[in-house]
Amino acid sequence: ACIICGRSFSKSIKKLQQASYPLVTKIKSLSGVRSYKDGKFYSLKEYFDNFCPMCYLVGIIEWTDKGIIYRTMPGEKSILFLPQSDNLLELRRFKETYHPLLNTNHRYHNIKVKRESEETENTYGSFSTLLCFYEKFFSYTKRNDKVRNSWAMIDIPFGPVKNIKLNNIEISSSILQIIKKLSEEKINIYKEIIESFLFFNDNPKGAPINWELTGEIRENISEAILTDNFRFFAKNLLPRKGGHVGVYLRDVMQKDVKKNLEELIYLWRLKNMGLNEKQLETIKSAGRTIAAASKSHRSLLYKLDKVKDKTDLLDALRQISRRIAGLKPEEKKKYKGFIYSPALEDIVSLIEQHERDEKFIEDLKNILIIFSCVEFSRIEYLEEKKEGEENE
Ligand SMILES: [Zn+2]
Repeated sequence: ACIICGRSFSKSIKKLQQASYPLVTKIKSLSGVRSYKDGKFYSLKEYFDNFCPMCYLVGIIEWTDKGIIYRTMPGEKSILFLPQSDNLLELRRFKETYHPLLNTNHRYHNIKVKRESEETENTYGSFSTLLCFYEKFFSYTKRNDKVRNSWAMIDIPFGPVKNIKLNNIEISSSILQIIKKLSEEKINIYKEIIESFLFFNDNPKGAPINWELTGEIRENISEAILTDNFRFFAKNLLPRKGGHVGVYLRDVMQKDVKKNLEELIYLWRLKNMGLNEKQLETIKSAGRTIAAASKSHRSLLYKLDKVKDKTDLLDALRQISRRIAGLKPEEKKKYKGFIYSPALEDIVSLIEQHERDEKFIEDLKNILIIFSCVEFSRIEYLEEKKEGEENE
Protein backbone atom coordinates (compact mmCIF):
# COMPACT_ATOMS: atom_id res chain seq x y z
CA ALA A 1 0.00 0.00 0.00
CA CYS A 2 1.01 3.59 -0.58
CA ILE A 3 2.28 5.25 2.56
CA ILE A 4 0.74 8.56 1.65
CA CYS A 5 -2.79 7.64 0.59
CA GLY A 6 -3.10 3.99 1.57
CA ARG A 7 -4.19 2.80 -1.87
CA SER A 8 -2.65 -0.36 -3.22
CA PHE A 9 -0.72 -0.13 -6.46
CA SER A 10 1.24 -2.48 -8.67
CA LYS A 11 4.30 -0.61 -9.82
CA SER A 12 6.17 2.17 -8.10
CA ILE A 13 7.63 4.91 -10.29
CA LYS A 14 10.09 6.56 -8.08
CA LYS A 15 11.18 6.38 -4.49
CA LEU A 16 9.65 8.82 -2.07
CA GLN A 17 12.15 11.62 -1.92
CA GLN A 18 12.40 15.33 -1.58
CA ALA A 19 11.96 16.10 -5.22
CA SER A 20 8.35 15.03 -4.86
CA TYR A 21 7.63 15.72 -1.20
CA PRO A 22 9.85 18.44 0.22
CA LEU A 23 9.20 17.52 3.82
CA VAL A 24 10.30 13.93 3.38
CA THR A 25 13.00 13.54 5.96
CA LYS A 26 14.16 11.17 8.62
CA ILE A 27 13.32 13.69 11.28
CA LYS A 28 10.20 12.30 12.94
CA SER A 29 8.85 15.65 14.03
CA LEU A 30 8.77 16.82 10.43
CA SER A 31 7.45 13.66 8.83
CA GLY A 32 4.06 13.77 10.45
CA VAL A 33 1.79 10.77 10.05
CA ARG A 34 4.10 9.18 7.55
CA SER A 35 6.58 8.27 10.22
CA TYR A 36 4.00 6.71 12.53
CA LYS A 37 2.31 3.38 12.03
CA ASP A 38 0.69 0.83 14.34
CA GLY A 39 1.84 2.67 17.43
CA LYS A 40 5.46 2.46 16.38
CA PHE A 41 7.77 5.00 14.83
CA TYR A 42 9.38 4.15 11.56
CA SER A 43 12.18 5.92 9.91
CA LEU A 44 11.28 6.92 6.39
CA LYS A 45 13.86 4.64 4.88
CA GLU A 46 11.43 1.76 5.19
CA TYR A 47 8.84 3.70 3.27
CA PHE A 48 10.95 4.48 0.27
CA ASP A 49 9.25 2.11 -2.11
CA ASN A 50 5.68 2.32 -0.88
CA PHE A 51 4.75 5.34 -2.89
CA CYS A 52 2.03 5.20 -5.53
CA PRO A 53 2.19 6.86 -8.99
CA MET A 54 -0.77 9.08 -8.16
CA CYS A 55 0.91 10.47 -5.03
CA TYR A 56 4.09 10.93 -6.99
CA LEU A 57 2.19 13.03 -9.50
CA VAL A 58 0.46 15.06 -6.78
CA GLY A 59 3.82 15.60 -5.10
CA ILE A 60 5.47 16.79 -8.28
CA ILE A 61 2.57 19.14 -9.01
CA GLU A 62 3.31 20.93 -5.72
CA TRP A 63 6.32 22.43 -7.39
CA THR A 64 4.19 24.11 -10.03
CA ASP A 65 2.71 26.28 -7.27
CA LYS A 66 3.52 29.81 -8.41
CA GLY A 67 3.36 31.07 -4.84
CA ILE A 68 6.49 29.39 -3.52
CA ILE A 69 9.15 31.94 -2.65
CA TYR A 70 12.66 30.53 -2.62
CA ARG A 71 16.25 31.47 -2.11
CA THR A 72 19.03 29.03 -2.96
CA MET A 73 22.63 29.44 -1.90
CA PRO A 74 24.45 27.07 -4.28
CA GLY A 75 26.37 24.41 -2.40
CA GLU A 76 24.92 25.46 0.91
CA LYS A 77 21.15 25.35 1.22
CA SER A 78 17.78 26.29 -0.17
CA ILE A 79 15.16 28.19 1.75
CA LEU A 80 11.49 27.87 0.92
CA PHE A 81 8.90 30.31 2.16
CA LEU A 82 5.36 29.01 2.38
CA PRO A 83 2.56 31.24 3.62
CA GLN A 84 0.33 29.57 6.18
CA SER A 85 -3.39 29.81 6.78
CA ASP A 86 -6.20 27.61 8.01
CA ASN A 87 -8.34 28.99 5.24
CA LEU A 88 -7.31 27.49 1.89
CA LEU A 89 -9.32 30.03 -0.07
CA GLU A 90 -7.57 32.93 1.65
CA LEU A 91 -4.25 31.24 1.09
CA ARG A 92 -4.99 30.92 -2.59
CA ARG A 93 -6.06 34.57 -2.84
CA PHE A 94 -2.89 35.69 -1.09
CA LYS A 95 -0.70 33.68 -3.44
CA GLU A 96 -2.56 35.00 -6.46
CA THR A 97 -2.00 38.53 -5.23
CA TYR A 98 1.75 38.18 -5.04
CA HIS A 99 2.70 35.66 -7.67
CA PRO A 100 3.19 38.38 -10.35
CA LEU A 101 5.99 39.64 -8.08
CA LEU A 102 7.90 36.38 -8.50
CA ASN A 103 9.97 35.13 -11.38
CA THR A 104 9.96 31.39 -10.99
CA ASN A 105 12.29 30.92 -13.93
CA HIS A 106 15.21 32.14 -11.93
CA ARG A 107 17.30 29.40 -10.46
CA TYR A 108 18.45 30.86 -7.14
CA HIS A 109 16.09 33.63 -6.12
CA ASN A 110 12.67 34.58 -7.37
CA ILE A 111 11.56 37.91 -5.89
CA LYS A 112 11.52 40.38 -8.75
CA VAL A 113 13.29 43.71 -8.35
CA LYS A 114 10.35 45.38 -10.08
CA ARG A 115 7.02 43.92 -10.99
CA GLU A 116 7.53 44.58 -14.67
CA SER A 117 11.13 43.31 -14.85
CA GLU A 118 12.55 39.80 -14.90
CA GLU A 119 15.53 40.64 -12.74
CA THR A 120 15.41 39.21 -9.20
CA GLU A 121 16.73 40.33 -5.82
CA ASN A 122 19.89 38.68 -4.55
CA THR A 123 19.11 38.59 -0.84
CA TYR A 124 21.50 37.23 1.77
CA GLY A 125 19.40 34.95 3.95
CA SER A 126 15.94 34.00 5.11
CA PHE A 127 14.88 37.12 7.00
CA SER A 128 16.22 39.55 4.43
CA THR A 129 14.35 37.60 1.74
CA LEU A 130 11.09 37.80 3.68
CA LEU A 131 11.56 41.49 4.40
CA CYS A 132 12.32 42.07 0.72
CA PHE A 133 9.11 40.22 -0.12
CA TYR A 134 7.02 42.52 2.08
CA GLU A 135 8.66 45.58 0.52
CA LYS A 136 7.52 44.42 -2.91
CA PHE A 137 4.13 43.30 -1.65
CA PHE A 138 3.28 46.71 -0.24
CA SER A 139 4.76 48.59 -3.20
CA TYR A 140 2.85 46.72 -5.87
CA THR A 141 -0.40 45.46 -4.47
CA LYS A 142 -3.60 47.37 -4.03
CA ARG A 143 -4.74 48.93 -0.80
CA ASN A 144 -7.41 46.38 0.00
CA ASP A 145 -5.31 43.35 -0.90
CA LYS A 146 -5.07 41.23 2.18
CA VAL A 147 -1.64 40.53 3.54
CA ARG A 148 -0.76 37.41 5.51
CA ASN A 149 1.74 37.33 8.33
CA SER A 150 2.29 33.64 9.00
CA TRP A 151 5.06 31.70 7.24
CA ALA A 152 6.84 28.39 7.26
CA MET A 153 10.48 28.94 6.39
CA ILE A 154 12.10 25.67 5.43
CA ASP A 155 15.87 25.33 5.30
CA ILE A 156 16.96 22.46 3.07
CA PRO A 157 20.70 21.82 3.17
CA PHE A 158 22.54 20.65 0.06
CA GLY A 159 23.79 17.11 -0.31
CA PRO A 160 22.23 14.28 1.68
CA VAL A 161 19.05 15.80 2.96
CA LYS A 162 19.02 15.04 6.62
CA ASN A 163 18.72 18.15 8.66
CA ILE A 164 15.82 20.12 7.36
CA LYS A 165 14.95 23.02 9.57
CA LEU A 166 11.42 24.28 9.84
CA ASN A 167 10.97 27.76 11.24
CA ASN A 168 7.45 29.04 11.74
CA ILE A 169 7.27 32.79 11.95
CA GLU A 170 4.47 35.25 12.55
CA ILE A 171 5.09 38.89 11.80
CA SER A 172 3.29 41.26 14.14
CA SER A 173 0.76 43.58 12.55
CA SER A 174 2.53 46.66 13.99
CA ILE A 175 5.67 45.71 12.03
CA LEU A 176 3.68 45.13 8.84
CA GLN A 177 2.09 48.55 9.36
CA ILE A 178 5.55 50.14 9.53
CA ILE A 179 6.66 48.49 6.27
CA LYS A 180 3.40 49.55 4.66
CA LYS A 181 3.65 53.13 5.92
CA LEU A 182 7.22 53.43 4.64
CA SER A 183 6.06 52.10 1.30
CA GLU A 184 3.32 54.75 1.16
CA GLU A 185 6.05 57.33 1.75
CA LYS A 186 7.95 55.77 -1.17
CA ILE A 187 10.64 54.36 1.10
CA ASN A 188 11.63 50.80 0.24
CA ILE A 189 12.66 49.13 3.45
CA TYR A 190 14.86 46.48 1.86
CA LYS A 191 16.32 48.35 -1.12
CA GLU A 192 16.77 51.72 0.51
CA ILE A 193 17.40 50.90 4.14
CA ILE A 194 18.72 47.35 4.61
CA GLU A 195 20.87 47.38 1.46
CA SER A 196 22.36 50.74 2.45
CA PHE A 197 24.24 49.18 5.35
CA LEU A 198 27.84 48.17 4.80
CA PHE A 199 30.67 46.98 6.96
CA PHE A 200 33.81 49.04 6.36
CA ASN A 201 37.25 47.69 7.17
CA ASP A 202 39.33 50.00 9.34
CA ASN A 203 42.50 49.18 7.45
CA PRO A 204 42.29 51.40 4.39
CA LYS A 205 45.06 49.48 2.61
CA GLY A 206 42.95 46.38 2.17
CA ALA A 207 39.51 46.06 0.63
CA PRO A 208 37.32 48.90 1.88
CA ILE A 209 34.25 46.73 2.47
CA ASN A 210 33.86 43.36 4.18
CA TRP A 211 31.07 41.84 2.11
CA GLU A 212 30.63 38.70 4.19
CA LEU A 213 30.01 40.69 7.34
CA THR A 214 27.89 43.18 5.39
CA GLY A 215 25.59 40.31 4.38
CA GLU A 216 25.40 39.01 7.92
CA ILE A 217 24.55 42.42 9.32
CA ARG A 218 21.87 43.00 6.70
CA GLU A 219 20.39 39.61 7.55
CA ASN A 220 20.49 40.33 11.28
CA ILE A 221 18.85 43.73 11.05
CA SER A 222 16.17 42.25 8.79
CA GLU A 223 15.53 39.64 11.46
CA ALA A 224 15.46 42.36 14.11
CA ILE A 225 12.76 44.24 12.19
CA LEU A 226 10.60 41.22 11.39
CA THR A 227 10.78 39.90 14.95
CA ASP A 228 10.30 43.39 16.41
CA ASN A 229 13.59 43.21 18.30
CA PHE A 230 14.79 46.81 18.52
CA ARG A 231 17.67 45.95 20.82
CA PHE A 232 19.07 43.41 18.32
CA PHE A 233 18.85 46.03 15.57
CA ALA A 234 20.90 48.54 17.58
CA LYS A 235 23.44 45.95 18.67
CA ASN A 236 24.23 45.01 15.09
CA LEU A 237 25.30 48.54 14.21
CA LEU A 238 28.08 48.75 16.78
CA PRO A 239 31.67 48.94 15.54
CA ARG A 240 33.48 45.58 15.71
CA LYS A 241 37.03 44.42 15.69
CA GLY A 242 38.61 45.53 12.44
CA GLY A 243 35.85 47.78 11.22
CA HIS A 244 32.56 49.53 11.60
CA VAL A 245 29.09 49.69 10.13
CA GLY A 246 28.12 52.58 7.94
CA VAL A 247 25.44 53.49 5.49
CA TYR A 248 26.04 54.00 1.81
CA LEU A 249 27.56 57.41 1.42
CA ARG A 250 27.03 58.54 -2.10
CA ASP A 251 26.70 62.20 -2.88
CA VAL A 252 23.05 62.70 -3.69
CA MET A 253 21.84 59.49 -2.09
CA GLN A 254 23.65 60.13 1.15
CA LYS A 255 21.07 62.35 2.70
CA ASP A 256 18.19 60.17 1.59
CA VAL A 257 19.63 57.06 3.20
CA LYS A 258 19.91 58.78 6.55
CA LYS A 259 16.42 60.24 6.26
CA ASN A 260 14.95 56.85 5.38
CA LEU A 261 16.58 55.27 8.37
CA GLU A 262 15.39 58.07 10.62
CA GLU A 263 11.87 57.56 9.36
CA LEU A 264 12.07 53.84 10.16
CA ILE A 265 13.27 54.59 13.70
CA TYR A 266 10.55 57.21 14.04
CA LEU A 267 7.77 54.82 13.07
CA TRP A 268 9.27 51.92 15.01
CA ARG A 269 9.98 53.70 18.28
CA LEU A 270 10.15 57.49 18.47
CA LYS A 271 6.54 58.03 17.40
CA ASN A 272 5.24 56.24 20.48
CA MET A 273 7.61 57.86 22.94
CA GLY A 274 5.66 61.11 23.21
CA LEU A 275 8.47 63.40 22.06
CA ASN A 276 8.10 66.75 20.36
CA GLU A 277 9.93 67.98 17.28
CA LYS A 278 12.63 69.71 19.33
CA GLN A 279 13.30 66.62 21.40
CA LEU A 280 13.63 64.54 18.24
CA GLU A 281 16.26 66.98 16.96
CA THR A 282 18.03 66.80 20.32
CA ILE A 283 18.33 63.02 20.03
CA LYS A 284 19.81 63.25 16.52
CA SER A 285 22.18 65.96 17.65
CA ALA A 286 23.25 63.86 20.63
CA GLY A 287 23.89 60.98 18.22
CA ARG A 288 26.33 63.13 16.23
CA THR A 289 28.04 64.28 19.42
CA ILE A 290 28.43 60.72 20.74
CA ALA A 291 29.80 59.62 17.36
CA ALA A 292 32.51 62.29 17.53
CA ALA A 293 33.37 61.47 21.14
CA SER A 294 33.74 57.76 20.44
CA LYS A 295 35.54 58.05 17.11
CA SER A 296 38.89 57.21 18.66
CA HIS A 297 37.38 55.93 21.92
CA ARG A 298 35.08 53.13 20.87
CA SER A 299 34.82 51.94 24.45
CA LEU A 300 32.38 54.83 25.01
CA LEU A 301 29.97 53.26 22.53
CA TYR A 302 30.41 49.80 24.03
CA LYS A 303 29.72 51.26 27.45
CA LEU A 304 26.55 52.87 26.16
CA ASP A 305 25.55 49.51 24.72
CA LYS A 306 25.94 47.80 28.09
CA VAL A 307 23.70 50.28 29.88
CA LYS A 308 21.09 48.49 32.00
CA ASP A 309 19.22 51.31 33.69
CA LYS A 310 18.91 55.04 34.17
CA THR A 311 21.97 55.31 36.43
CA ASP A 312 24.17 53.47 33.90
CA LEU A 313 22.89 55.66 31.09
CA LEU A 314 23.63 58.90 32.97
CA ASP A 315 27.05 57.52 33.81
CA ALA A 316 27.80 56.67 30.17
CA LEU A 317 26.69 60.16 29.07
CA ARG A 318 28.89 61.75 31.72
CA GLN A 319 31.92 59.92 30.34
CA ILE A 320 31.05 61.09 26.85
CA SER A 321 30.77 64.70 28.11
CA ARG A 322 34.16 64.42 29.76
CA ARG A 323 35.70 63.14 26.56
CA ILE A 324 34.20 66.06 24.61
CA ALA A 325 35.48 68.54 27.19
CA GLY A 326 38.97 67.07 26.91
CA LEU A 327 39.23 67.25 23.13
CA LYS A 328 42.36 68.91 21.74
CA PRO A 329 41.87 71.94 19.49
CA GLU A 330 42.76 69.94 16.36
CA GLU A 331 40.22 67.27 17.31
CA LYS A 332 37.60 69.92 17.84
CA LYS A 333 38.33 71.21 14.38
CA LYS A 334 38.16 67.71 12.96
CA TYR A 335 34.75 67.04 14.48
CA LYS A 336 33.34 70.44 13.74
CA GLY A 337 29.73 70.11 12.75
CA PHE A 338 29.30 67.01 14.90
CA ILE A 339 29.80 68.19 18.45
CA TYR A 340 27.07 70.00 20.27
CA SER A 341 27.43 69.51 24.01
CA PRO A 342 24.07 71.07 25.03
CA ALA A 343 22.37 68.13 23.30
CA LEU A 344 23.85 65.82 25.92
CA GLU A 345 22.51 68.05 28.70
CA ASP A 346 19.06 67.98 27.09
CA ILE A 347 19.23 64.18 26.94
CA VAL A 348 20.03 64.11 30.65
CA SER A 349 16.93 66.14 31.47
CA LEU A 350 14.87 63.91 29.17
CA ILE A 351 16.09 60.93 31.16
CA GLU A 352 15.19 62.67 34.43
CA GLN A 353 11.68 63.30 33.14
CA HIS A 354 11.18 59.63 32.28
CA GLU A 355 13.31 58.08 34.98
CA ARG A 356 10.60 55.64 36.06
CA ASP A 357 9.87 54.43 32.57
CA GLU A 358 12.24 51.52 31.98
CA LYS A 359 11.09 50.98 28.42
CA PHE A 360 11.68 54.64 27.60
CA ILE A 361 15.23 54.46 28.97
CA GLU A 362 15.96 51.25 27.06
CA ASP A 363 14.53 52.62 23.81
CA LEU A 364 16.38 55.91 24.20
CA LYS A 365 19.65 54.05 24.71
CA ASN A 366 19.11 51.97 21.58
CA ILE A 367 18.14 55.01 19.51
CA LEU A 368 21.28 56.86 20.63
CA ILE A 369 23.36 53.81 19.63
CA ILE A 370 21.72 53.61 16.21
CA PHE A 371 22.11 57.31 15.42
CA SER A 372 25.67 57.54 16.69
CA CYS A 373 26.78 54.39 14.86
CA VAL A 374 25.45 55.79 11.59
CA GLU A 375 27.17 59.14 12.21
CA PHE A 376 30.36 57.32 13.15
CA SER A 377 31.17 56.45 9.54
CA ARG A 378 30.03 59.81 8.23
CA ILE A 379 32.75 61.57 10.16
CA GLU A 380 35.50 60.03 8.07
CA TYR A 381 33.59 60.49 4.89
CA LEU A 382 32.89 64.17 5.49
CA GLU A 383 36.46 64.68 6.54
CA GLU A 384 37.57 63.37 3.18
CA LYS A 385 35.07 65.49 1.34
CA LYS A 386 35.95 68.54 3.43
CA GLU A 387 32.39 69.42 3.93
CA GLY A 388 30.21 69.23 6.97
CA GLU A 389 26.63 69.32 7.93
CA GLU A 390 26.34 71.85 10.71
CA ASN A 391 25.36 70.53 14.07
CA GLU A 392 23.88 73.21 16.20
ZN1 LIG B 1 -0.65 7.15 -2.85
